[in-house]
Order: sequence, then structure tokens, then C-alpha cells
Amino acid sequence: MHLDCIFCQIPKDRIVFENDLIYAIFDGFPVTKYHSLIIPKRHIKDFFDLSEDELLSANKILHQMKEHILSIDESVTGFNIGMNAGESAGQTVFHCHIHLIPRRDGDVENPRGGVRHTIPGKGSY
Ligand code: AMP
Ligand code: ZN
Repeated sequence: MHLDCIFCQIPKDRIVFENDLIYAIFDGFPVTKYHSLIIPKRHIKDFFDLSEDELLSANKILHQMKEHILSIDESVTGFNIGMNAGESAGQTVFHCHIHLIPRRDGDVENPRGGVRHTIPGKGSY
């Protein structure tokens, strides 16, 4: 538990799903409606520090959250799943989290390439 880390002190009432090792919340500054974060309870810096148990638990919560989003919003037609590991890769909160970003037909003009758009202009190939 790190006192200067926001993901070490997310209030209980913001947690949508949790198990022993992992919890999930809706992102405070969502890229799309219901953008979610899957977060280990242990303070580790990024995806590569997850233990095998945490990976399995995170995957369960990821699926739960995905099913939950599909059940509350029938406009959702796809998802992007992503982790920023390291400042160079865009990470701003240095407590591991997996982004689950719901996508909807027509939310951008041309979605082709998806996460490839992390480098502007390189999404299409
Ligand atoms: P990253 O840039 O990959 O480290 O992602 C950090 C994520 O945390 C961003 O999507 C932010 O919108 C989100 N975020 C930052 N502060 C909060 C907060 N207090 N509550 C919920 N989400 C937050
Ligand atoms: Zn933390």
C-alpha cells in the first residue's frame, strides 16, 4: 500500500468487481463510455510484474467486466484491451492496470488498426 498512489486507495464504493487479488473500476477520465481498469491489489508497476495467479485473476475480472458492459449497453460492438508499460509507452499511473475500452460501430470514422494508433499515423497498414 503506497500512500501516494491513487490505485492503492480507490474507495470501496467505486469497485465494480473484485476477487482476492484484483479489482475493477470505471476509469475516471473515460476514453469511451464504460472504459474500465482492471487493477491488481498489490502495488506493482506494470503488467510485466503480475504473478501467474494475478494474471489468472485479472483475466477472470476482465471477462466479468466485459460481460457486464455488454449487459448494460447494447451499443457496444467491440473492445480494445491495453496496457501502457513505462513512461515512454504513455503510462501515467505507475500501479499496474489493464485498460478495457468498449468500442461502438461508428465511434471513429475508420477503426482499422485499433491499438496500432498509439503511434499517430501508423494505425493503417
Ligand atoms: P495510464 O496512462 O495507462 O497510466 O492510465 C491511467 C488511467 O488512470 C487513465 O486512463 C486515467 O483516466 C485513469 N485515472 C487517473 N486518475 C484516476 C482516478 N482518480 N480514478 C479513476 N481513474 C483514474
Ligand atoms: Zn499503488
